[in-house]
Amino acid sequence: MTTAKYDAIIIGAGIIGNCITYELARKGYRTLSVDKLGGSGFGSTSGSCAIIRFYYSSPEGVALAREGYYYWLNWPRYLKVADPHGMAYYKNTGAMVFKTEVNHHLEKVMTSLDALGVGYIELSPEEVKDYIPNPDLRTYYPQKRMDDPAFGQSTGAQVTGAVFAPESGYISDPKLSTHNVEIAARNLGADFMFNTEVVDILRSAGRVSGVALSDGQTLQAPVVINVAGPHSSRINAMAGIIDQMNIKTRALRVEVAHVPSPEGVDWEHGGVITSDSDTGVYTRPETGNHVLIGSEEPACDPLEYVDPDDYNLEFTDQARTQAMREAMRIPDLPIPNRMQGVVDLYDVSDDWYPVYDKSSLPGYYLAIGTSGNQYKNAPVVGAFMSDLVQYCESGHDHDTEPLQYRMKYIDYTLNIGFFSRNREINAESSFSVIG
Ligand SMILES: Cc1cc2nc3c(=O)[nH]c(=O)nc-3n(C[C@H](O)[C@H](O)[C@H](O)COP(=O)(O)OP(=O)(O)OC[C@H]3O[C@@H](n4cnc5c(N)ncnc54)[C@H](O)[C@@H]3O)c2cc1C
Repeated sequence: MTTAKYDAIIIGAGIIGNCITYELARKGYRTLSVDKLGGSGFGSTSGSCAIIRFYYSSPEGVALAREGYYYWLNWPRYLKVADPHGMAYYKNTGAMVFKTEVNHHLEKVMTSLDALGVGYIELSPEEVKDYIPNPDLRTYYPQKRMDDPAFGQSTGAQVTGAVFAPESGYISDPKLSTHNVEIAARNLGADFMFNTEVVDILRSAGRVSGVALSDGQTLQAPVVINVAGPHSSRINAMAGIIDQMNIKTRALRVEVAHVPSPEGVDWEHGGVITSDSDTGVYTRPETGNHVLIGSEEPACDPLEYVDPDDYNLEFTDQARTQAMREAMRIPDLPIPNRMQGVVDLYDVSDDWYPVYDKSSLPGYYLAIGTSGNQYKNAPVVGAFMSDLVQYCESGHDHDTEPLQYRMKYIDYTLNIGFFSRNREINAESSFSVIG
């Protein structure tokens, strides 16, 4: 049995786990990050599309993403290190979101952007043609599966337009960015243990007291934080708290397609991020002059909840379906015989908004349910989760008097109670990766 004593143990060294570790270390906590994989960001963070965009269904979601954006712009200054592996960086592309009935023609999103002073322009269908090559602007909603005879047949004359936000983009390498945060945290004294699996959450005197590892060791700490991504519900089961949460989390298997750009188009350097709830896909430029195509979970597609330790790593016809949907919008898009891309997991909550909270077990905290859309927010989450630990450990009851987090870059105070494990399901949510 080890005698190591820490102020806080963080389960999971993904982008969110490491940002929490870094912020706790900045506050002087002696932290230990434990991950069952071989390094930082090897879990679902490594499969992330790492898109930085502001359109969310709630004002809180928009504000959080806007605040996060500034951390990425100031990445080396935020971390105060130069990682010998290199530093990840933000690539600005702009993001174009189609106005559809699904997103209520972006009325609420534009109100939230206006409130924060975020610039955008509204595009007519004619103007959309300046942003995507040779587009077909007919409507295709509602989406269908490939085996439906009506798949690929338009359902209306023309989309109504789009909103283009010039300040949007993506991070060059999500795994490297997570390593960058590890180096910054180590620089402040944080410890990391890799290839180390947590198998139990320990309690003593009515609160959390540490974790047990698969090799029989135990590690003690008065604070334990579940940032285990798609394994979050496994860890919560160990802590015995699931029955005391209104919002649950589950691992969802997703596919992302990478297809070549249309001939003669330099999408890698000139392309934008697109979100198209009419065809049901989002895209961003990808290295190798590819177009990366993810799903916005249209109603016709079954959601594949899986065992995070035992799921199909091969493509099904889902990636091809997504590519074909994008080809409805860009008919010149080549669809290869063999699909390339990513198969990975989201940790999805009941309303596709995350749970950032304490729990019914004193000292045990949650940063889970990130639902395929929280990479961009990781640095802000690190900042307010470290505040939340201090707030609760100094005797405040976050359930009755939720922490109010004053943002650093924008003029906004975020009620962290918005992310409560005991909230009612957010009926305003898109119930998709959009959040
Ligand atoms: C395909 C895909 C595309 C995405 N695209 C975007 C996007 O464009 N923009 C955006 O903002 N977000 C996106 N996301 C979401 C974003 O990437 C995630 O929200 C974020 O990476 C989650 O980070 P995390 O640290 O919570 O989890 P993870 O990176 O999953 O880390 C959790 C860690 O916990 C460890 N762990 C689990 N169980 C144990 C255990 N028992 N003991 C020890 N360690 C354990 C795992 O090994 C893992 O490393 C995407 C996600 C995916 C999968």
